[in-house]
Amino acid sequence: MRVEDRVPQAPVKANQIEERHCGYIKAKQDPDEEKMQFQHGRVKLPGSRTYIHPHTYEDPNQAIRDFAKEIDASSIRIERVIGAGEFGEVCSGRLRLQGKREIYVAIKSLKAGYSDKQRRDFLSEASIMGQFDHPNIIRLEGVVTRCKPVMIITEFMENGSLDTFLKKHDGQFTVIQLVGMLRGIASGMKYLSDMGYVHRDLAARNILVNSNLVCKVSDFGLSRVLEDDPEAAYTTRGGKIPIRWTSPEAIAYRKFTSASDVWSYGIVMWEVVSYGERPYWEMSNQDVIKAIDEGYRLPAPMDCPVVLHQLMLSCWEKSRSDRPKFDIIVTTLDKLIRNPASLRELANSSVWQDPTTPEVSVTTVEEWLEAIKMGQYKESFSSAGYVTLDSVLYISASELGKMGVTLAGHQKKILSSVQSLSTQGTQVQV
Ligand code: AMP
Repeated sequence: MRVEDRVPQAPVKANQIEERHCGYIKAKQDPDEEKMQFQHGRVKLPGSRTYIHPHTYEDPNQAIRDFAKEIDASSIRIERVIGAGEFGEVCSGRLRLQGKREIYVAIKSLKAGYSDKQRRDFLSEASIMGQFDHPNIIRLEGVVTRCKPVMIITEFMENGSLDTFLKKHDGQFTVIQLVGMLRGIASGMKYLSDMGYVHRDLAARNILVNSNLVCKVSDFGLSRVLEDDPEAAYTTRGGKIPIRWTSPEAIAYRKFTSASDVWSYGIVMWEVVSYGERPYWEMSNQDVIKAIDEGYRLPAPMDCPVVLHQLMLSCWEKSRSDRPKFDIIVTTLDKLIRNPASLRELANSSVWQDPTTPEVSVTTVEEWLEAIKMGQYKESFSSAGYVTLDSVLYISASELGKMGVTLAGHQKKILSSVQSLSTQGTQVQV
């Protein structure tokens, strides 16, 4: 079935009916209302598929029965350990179901000594994943719940998680291959947002890659989303959030929506084009929050097509309604793939490609400003506290304005030189 087939056709009025079905409650609501993941009872429109949160089930085991197939443990052959999850080991192996050919699978098992809640949380991943059916979402084969250990069986992704995979293959893919990966992730995310599912932890580490370079979105647990993520840090409001991947409104007041997933998607784009570089490098979480608030955005990675950096910047619009929706991202990437010439212009091309452009090495803010012929602002920089080159890396246009650099052309010149400082160290183009 195509995703489009499931898009609601007829609008339904707000708060029409409430129906009880399979132990969960589905409340009708305004279809224009923003899709939120953790709300009870999403409207079920004719012909549409909507994500049902497992917590809306009175009996969580019923959610498992509804969305995941029970597999007999004897049809699984565990071969080797490939990773560690929050609840236990992840292994690879084979699954042979009656009348079907044997397939490679990943097997997650729940370690012994678990509590009821841990079992529920562990299996919640299966009851979420089991609702999805899309080539860019990790596919659930089934669960083993009738004997121990309890297991979740998914398709096997030969190349593991995307961040590690990219680091291992630094610089080895064509731009079209990278855009193809990004297109796949965007397509999976469009499907999830159409279903009303908000991921909240979209990052390259949570994308899996198969042997054909197909990228699939994974990591759908309840407690494990964020709790399990080593990148997630506690915010002042007590929530645990992977700061570098999360939109300002989700950090500030937990406004998680498909638009905050789009912000995270922009960060994934940056991770992919930079082959697994850490977003905002070694900056602290607090500095990242501050820099973003001041208008700073990640510069284009090395050799990044200008159109891709523009797309990233649009995902990082402060106002979430200004960010593109996933369907627009998919069509934009499709157009780029169809017209590879559009990817030729690199964001930092003048720095990286023009051999006639002289470059000088600078070590102080004064030298740098002199080199780019902005020496008249030396005083302003030092009195605003920008005394080392490192300190200027995260300066924003609004900050420059406050310091008295009000001419747009001068701001542009300084900011583009800052960008080359961050990608090239102390070499600046003069
Ligand atoms: P997770 O608990 O889902 O984060 O999984 C831990 C690690 O196991 C991941 O980082 C992957 O390296 C590996 N892994 C998980 N699921 C799969 C899969 N379906 N195919 C291959 N490797 C997987």
